[in-house]
Amino acid sequence: MDVRVRALQTLLTDKGYVDPAALDRIIETYETEVGPHNGAKVVARAWSEPAYREWLLRDATAAIADMGYSGRQGEHMVVVPNTETVHNMVVCTLCSCYPWPVLGLPPVWYKSAPYRSKAVMDPRGVLSDFGVSVPADVTFRVWDSTAEIRYLVLPLRPSGTEGWTQEQLAELVTRDSMIGTGLPLRAQDVAVTA
Ligand code: FE
Repeated sequence: MDVRVRALQTLLTDKGYVDPAALDRIIETYETEVGPHNGAKVVARAWSEPAYREWLLRDATAAIADMGYSGRQGEHMVVVPNTETVHNMVVCTLCSCYPWPVLGLPPVWYKSAPYRSKAVMDPRGVLSDFGVSVPADVTFRVWDSTAEIRYLVLPLRPSGTEGWTQEQLAELVTRDSMIGTGLPLRAQDVAVTA
């Protein structure tokens, strides 16, 4: 794959279609500036402001853009909320579609064939592979991302966080909790800043 990517990049550069410096800049941006801390701020705001939560669930693309996060691979966002009875998980069964503006670049496992197949067949098993479990009566919903639509999970707000600021809440929001392969941290996990 590496060789194929390099061959393609060389060809496109030779033909003048892409500028290697621009490619480096794009990769650097998504590796260093854009990341799950963006999505965490979206989630924390949804936890804090009912009107924002409602907007986010109705028109995620616009509500997320309101936070300043938009662009490549985030043009059509859909946010799926976890509840006491439903746990959402996001996958791209075809390749690796992922909401870059809010989560950055996907982790290696997200692109792997085992995750892409098992998420569909046995999401509860995937969760347990990550060392996480939810009650037996919780139903799983698995969302298959596409080149057009990118999903973000809105995890449940952890208990014991009443009165926390959005900044404090955002510290609880892990990348995996927004993919659905994990849960947010608990209040006591970051008690130092509370
Ligand atoms: Fe994909």
